[in-house]
Amino acid sequence: MTKRHEMIEDRKFTTEAVTDAVVIQVLLILIRHPGLRTGDVSHRLKGQSPPITMQHVRVVFDRYNLDDAGEKKTFEALNLLWSVAEQGGWSSTEIARATGSNGCHLPRIDFIAEMDNCAVCRATTVISRSKNRTVVTYAEGMFEAVEVQKKCSVDC
Ligand SMILES: [Zn+2]
Repeated sequence: MTKRHEMIEDRKFTTEAVTDAVVIQVLLILIRHPGLRTGDVSHRLKGQSPPITMQHVRVVFDRYNLDDAGEKKTFEALNLLWSVAEQGGWSSTEIARATGSNGCHLPRIDFIAEMDNCAVCRATTVISRSKNRTVVTYAEGMFEAVEVQKKCSVDC
């Protein structure tokens, strides 16, 4: 009986169910709690709608090779979170909403490129654009990272 039930569950599950939103939820748990195994992660994701099961978590772990993700892997998980969110076209607002911090004003940290002179012609640089990212860290909680990029002032 149990076996048959599992088979039905398996058939219902497709990897398409592992959406960017699911990946992000799993990564957020791992960033907050480095080194958790699949079972602990799915336990912490109980009550999500649509539900995130052990199978979802397993697929995410396999896809991104997250087994043995200890504390040293927290930054990898962070980078992965950014790239998944960016590829999926998520705005920082959307990520904030997904992570349950909707409406909160996030602390902001600016990362300004250190390059003061153009590497090619040595002219001074000007700020070209900035890129906002919502970031969650184990130590700081959630904050907004603003990456300020620079370019050559004379467009050499
Ligand atoms: Zn230049």
